[in-house]
Amino acid sequence: MKVLILGVNGFIGSHLSTRILGETDWTVYGMDLGDHKLKEVKGHKNFQFLEGDISINKEWIEYHIKKSDVVIPLVAIATPKTYIENPLSVFELDFEENLRIIRQCVKYHKRVIFPSTSEVYGMCPDEAFDEYASKLVLGPIPKQRWIYSCSKQLLDRVIWAYGSRGDLDFTLIRPFNWIGPRLDSLETAKEGSSRVVTQFIASLVYRQPIVLVDGGMQSRSFTYIDDGISALMKILKNEGGKASGQIFNIGNPANNITIGELADTLLKMFKQHPDHIKDPAYSEIVIQPAGDFYGEGYQDIQTRVPSIRNAHELLGWEPTVGLEEALKRTMDSFLEEIRNSNA
Ligand code: UDP
Repeated sequence: MKVLILGVNGFIGSHLSTRILGETDWTVYGMDLGDHKLKEVKGHKNFQFLEGDISINKEWIEYHIKKSDVVIPLVAIATPKTYIENPLSVFELDFEENLRIIRQCVKYHKRVIFPSTSEVYGMCPDEAFDEYASKLVLGPIPKQRWIYSCSKQLLDRVIWAYGSRGDLDFTLIRPFNWIGPRLDSLETAKEGSSRVVTQFIASLVYRQPIVLVDGGMQSRSFTYIDDGISALMKILKNEGGKASGQIFNIGNPANNITIGELADTLLKMFKQHPDHIKDPAYSEIVIQPAGDFYGEGYQDIQTRVPSIRNAHELLGWEPTVGLEEALKRTMDSFLEEIRNSNA
């Protein structure tokens, strides 16, 4: 099988290509702006890479869509701070550029696995979000945070519409706060624009305060990357065509904790880590109003727990990595990265 991964150097793309090339004889065509996360696969005989930009290298992309069996367009902005600071870039990249890719998949009859997001459920009040029953609840227009959710939702609907017309073989996946090595760079976290786990680890490393937005009572269900990739591999294999035309939440409902608890757990782990057990002082945990931390365009999501019934029933998939282990592996990998860069 030939798989085209756009955004192959990202968090999901890099882990997915490692797994594909390690476990199968498939070919991976990958494109990204850089290749620093691809050390494990660079030089592999079944890996072909172009350093490029999806808004520029259009001919390469079209040619490789034609050549591939399945397309996984992972290029997107997915950090809440950017939804508020640069909402149009989110629309342009996450929606407009990806719409072009989807239309080419329709044109050339190629299967697409598209990353939707847990963010599409927005402020849904359900205890567990269901792909086929939950309402998608967004805030008012001046709350610019919702441009990401809205862009992804519209593309989900476009993909669904092509599929229901019989013009597109698709699967929509909704990752729920996936974490692990190579999530975000600690450099972006230094500027305060990272996702929460990387942000807290960076705060610990640089001994800056850990900020709990609005007190940290909001919760998330953190999912270890290897579990997410296992689900993606089942979707790629698509035994019996069971993944086709489906939406799957890919998350770990057992790993649901509040952001306050997350901060306490990471601080405790950091203090016990051999590299830091003797540090003279550690970051303090402080509280900041959302408006001060993110700006007025922010609105939070209080709870986000997936129902994973569909992935279980159709794919036989279950997450296996518990929260402590997932956080430990994530922290260890970042600290190792720092150790190596200082060596
Ligand atoms: N958050 C926080 N402190 C930070 C960064 C994030 O309290 O330094 C909160 C944020 O308000 C949200 C949660 O952590 O409620 C998860 O944020 P993240 O950026 O990881 O993305 P989200 O899950 O909202 O898409």
